[in-house]
Amino acid sequence: MSCAKGALRLVLGDQLSPDLSALSDIDPARDTVLIAEVAAETDYVPHHPKKIAYLFSAMRHFADELTGNGVRVRYVRLDDTENSGSLEGEVARAFAALDVDRLICTQCGEYRLDEVMRGWEQRLDLPVDIREDDRFLCSRDWFAKWAEGRTVFRMEHFYREMRRATGLLMTAEGKPEGGQWNFDTDNRKPPDAKTGGEGLFGPPPVPRFEADATTQAVLALVEDRFGERFGDVLPFDYAVTRADAEAALDAFIAERLALFGDYQDAMTPGEDHLYHAVLSLYLNAGLLGPMQVCRAAERAYLSGDAPLNAVEGFIRQVIGWREYVRGIYWLRMPDYKETNYLKATRDLPAFYWTGDTQMACIAHVVDETRRLAYAHHIQRLMVTGTFALLAGIDPKQVQAWYLSVYADAYEWVELPNTHGMALYADGGVMASKPYAASGKYIDRMSTYCGGCHYNVKKREGPGACPFNYLYWDFLDRNEGRLKGNPRMGMPLRTLARMTDETKATIRADAARFLQDLT
Ligand code: FAD
Ligand code: SF4
Repeated sequence: MSCAKGALRLVLGDQLSPDLSALSDIDPARDTVLIAEVAAETDYVPHHPKKIAYLFSAMRHFADELTGNGVRVRYVRLDDTENSGSLEGEVARAFAALDVDRLICTQCGEYRLDEVMRGWEQRLDLPVDIREDDRFLCSRDWFAKWAEGRTVFRMEHFYREMRRATGLLMTAEGKPEGGQWNFDTDNRKPPDAKTGGEGLFGPPPVPRFEADATTQAVLALVEDRFGERFGDVLPFDYAVTRADAEAALDAFIAERLALFGDYQDAMTPGEDHLYHAVLSLYLNAGLLGPMQVCRAAERAYLSGDAPLNAVEGFIRQVIGWREYVRGIYWLRMPDYKETNYLKATRDLPAFYWTGDTQMACIAHVVDETRRLAYAHHIQRLMVTGTFALLAGIDPKQVQAWYLSVYADAYEWVELPNTHGMALYADGGVMASKPYAASGKYIDRMSTYCGGCHYNVKKREGPGACPFNYLYWDFLDRNEGRLKGNPRMGMPLRTLARMTDETKATIRADAARFLQDLT
């Protein structure tokens, strides 16, 4: 059936892909693409100004790319005087202004907006076609089928299915390359400053991209509107076009992938990115695709330019963790956001926003986050995440922080990582045990402790590292909830062997420290 009128095709800020399902059958003669910068999306949490600048500039460049390809684009800027402030308002305004009779969109990445979009047909009284987001490798339905009947979900089982489905790192006989699915045990090297080995210091820097006139205009707008928020907008050097994001991918594959595995868990001040990809912000906004980055890594392995432990580790993060957390998110929302298995209620300490703490590890991660809207996985999980877990911080407040401060943060990926992986708020859906650790872990994997006010070797008493007594206090407080978990057996047995006097000192240290937090 041919329609006389055209369609309005909505492209959201994280849907900047030419192969987006909402654009697949576009008729440039009749259809119009709507892209809008709206206050409802910049303000529902206080997003880092660099994240807003990155997205607005990438949106404006994508609009130019579409226009250059002969597509009509209605682009609404944040400071347009008629801007209604919400996506719903902009869809309504576009309908009133254009000769279109239906709306075509792609599923969004957050339950909050998904609910709003599902109500448009009725509220705006127009036909709405919401299509699958097929930029992900695993559809919501496929994941729901995979999960059906399972009492326990484990990423590793899902990952193997994804390897088989994609053929990545699979031999012609259908076996995993190298005879093993997972090489994670090879990927835990501490920083070389400790071991005297070679290779950690001086990792090649991530490429920096100069701000063009479009980005400059966005930076001025963002400084003006959001300059008071947590986070530095300048210097700004993220890629904002597909071509530059591809250059960032090429540089990672050529210069950092080979050591990505070895130093995946290492942390050290002065080296913000180490050998990490720094590609999540491009993947999550659609400037790069998951198969594109995985195939590039696989080619590096096949040509002998990167070892299997690095390439398998990288591919596992992308087709394993990234797809898995999205599956969990859509399977478990909206209840997932309400989870608080450990009944944690303490307010988020102010130092998550100021970095004003004598704990060198946290001060460093907050500083890096403020400057870059980036911190790598172990910094997010084992420093700010573990602290929030041990101190019993309210998961909702922790989650809002992570969603605000990282350039790659969208609820579909951030919430399961926060509630599930870092805080164990979901009671074990994502992780088989809480990622609770004492200062010993940070000392082994980082160089933070040497320059810290606290003594990482001291478990309790004056000057002891807070991660130490908070760790034992956490186990003590939560013993009832954790004792059924076989993976918690060993630390709980160690706790049980402590004298009553030691336990009392730990409890007192923890109580004093937590009291001072607020
Ligand atoms: P690398 O370490 O180089 O990894 C390569 C790629 O694998 C990443 O680009 C990313 O796409 C993917 N990846 C790796 N780990 C994960 C994971 N656990 N979940 C999903 N994808 C993964 N990632 C986000 O993209 N957005 C978030 O909002 C986010 N919030 C997080 C919150 C917490 C508490 C934790 C512990 C992790 C969070 N992560 C999030 C996952 C991970 O920390 C980031 O994907 C990673 O640090 C991005 O940096 P990179 O590109 O250098 O990744
Ligand atoms: Fe962090 Fe403790 Fe090490 Fe200080 S001593 S950097 S608080 S782990």
